[in-house]
Amino acid sequence: MVEVKNLKKNFGTLEVLKGVDLKVKEKDIVVIIGPSGSGKSTLLRCINFLEMPNSGKVYINGEEVKKKNHDIDSLRRKVSMVFQHFNLFPHKTVIENVMEGPTQVTKMSKVKATKLAKLLLKKVGLEDKANVYPEMLSGGQKQRVAIARSLAMEPDVILFDEPTSALDPELVGEVIAVINDLAKEGMTMVIVTHEIWFAREVADKVIVMDEGVIIEEGSADKVFNNPDNERTAQFLKQVT
Ligand code: ADP
Ligand code: MG
Repeated sequence: MVEVKNLKKNFGTLEVLKGVDLKVKEKDIVVIIGPSGSGKSTLLRCINFLEMPNSGKVYINGEEVKKKNHDIDSLRRKVSMVFQHFNLFPHKTVIENVMEGPTQVTKMSKVKATKLAKLLLKKVGLEDKANVYPEMLSGGQKQRVAIARSLAMEPDVILFDEPTSALDPELVGEVIAVINDLAKEGMTMVIVTHEIWFAREVADKVIVMDEGVIIEEGSADKVFNNPDNERTAQFLKQVT
């Protein structure tokens, strides 16, 4: 469904991604872990061209994404992203945030988009917050709105960049519960997280990044219990 081949990205002279290969099959849940600064966010951002890769290729459903507006727009309809800091529109209500994509990007009618948004808010347990502004919400609620907004684009894949790391510990569970529901429904997801227990629970595949490369890749059982790479073991010691 998503394939990345030999992806490289520099910021000036800093080589952040040094040739990354990644395959995500339909309904797969791929969890990416690794030290801060290892290039995890940059990888996700390059997959949906929020950052332009310097070289390498991205394929969605077998089709190469070229650096043309048309390709990038259609890519972003299929691959949506949930950010660490939610990135909601502060001057729009919760339901307007969820409706923004369908009405602006896919030109869905307002009536239809309202229906869809209500359904999605119900799914994330926030139907009663439809008409409030994001500032009235807790971090966990904001992130659930962000997930609803992402689902409103009816994407093939959702990329999550540390969806729980800006949250107070007691709010982590409610966001993970929503992601778990999506997992049960067979949503294809790539999740960057430091919640190792969660990774163990949902991951079909765990990828460990360090200094711009993938240093380890395998089942959760393999990576967490019996890693091949010494640096994986060291990283796990720090975060668990
Ligand atoms: P991670 O998500 O694994 O913590 P990032 O992908 O955010 O890592 O960052 C990898 C490296 O790239 C870091 O050294 C970071 O400072 C650098 N970096 C990320 N984004 C930019 C940017 N827009 N401009 C310059 N350097 C950046
Ligand atoms: Mg990051």
